[in-house]
Amino acid sequence: MPLIIITGLPTSGKSTRAKQLQAYLSERISSQPSNSPYRLHLISDTSLSISRTVYDLSAVPAHARSANASEKDARAAIYGAVKRVLSPKDIVILDGLNYIKGWRYQLFCEAKNVRTPSCVLQIGCVPDRARGVNEARLERRTGAGAAEEEKGSAGDEEEAYEPANWENLVFRYEEPNPMTRWDSPLFTLIWEDDEARTKEVFDSIWDSIAGEGRKVVRPNQ
Ligand code: ADP
Repeated sequence: MPLIIITGLPTSGKSTRAKQLQAYLSERISSQPSNSPYRLHLISDTSLSISRTVYDLSAVPAHARSANASEKDARAAIYGAVKRVLSPKDIVILDGLNYIKGWRYQLFCEAKNVRTPSCVLQIGCVPDRARGVNEARLERRTGAGAAEEEKGSAGDEEEAYEPANWENLVFRYEEPNPMTRWDSPLFTLIWEDDEARTKEVFDSIWDSIAGEGRKVVRPNQ
């Protein structure tokens, strides 16, 4: 199976949902007959030690932005990591911004090459809330938010984005379009979605990539 491409604005809750999906899928896999075991992989910027700064274009001159080398290197590392494990027996959750439609197309083609389905899970979150999460992380980094951390967000150790980098990523974000092959099937979870709704969406993802709704993938379709 199956490549599950998570996409969304920076600090919109993608990793939180990715971990929930990982827990859900590992339970589903362990309840499958033992002769058809799936392996599960979670790949993210964090798992590959990719820093938020690779997305920062503020130091890159305008004419060179499309060739931003550090972001290209990061994408090559992610692509390599996905390619190494993706197979009809390996479920890969790719947790990241995945904000460029051409990039999602490339991943879709890679899944097709190994004859396994892919889908996109978009994490919906209003920019103001996502911005607030980043600001809280920035404050914690400077120590000003230590008291806030004690109030309950301990354990959130993800790296913050520089504000200009964050704003720019939101500006550059290319929304998935379910009318295109590479962005479909498209599933959506929003910040407010509760446990029951989340399970419903995860059930649909499972059906489309591993269950009865699973499509047969032919390389030149
Ligand atoms: P991203 O991966 O997009 O950068 P995270 O998943 O790391 O975002 O989430 C950022 C913060 O927001 C974390 O502290 C997390 O606990 C919180 N968070 C994420 N999603 C939700 C949600 N649906 N409800 C409440 N808090 C959330």
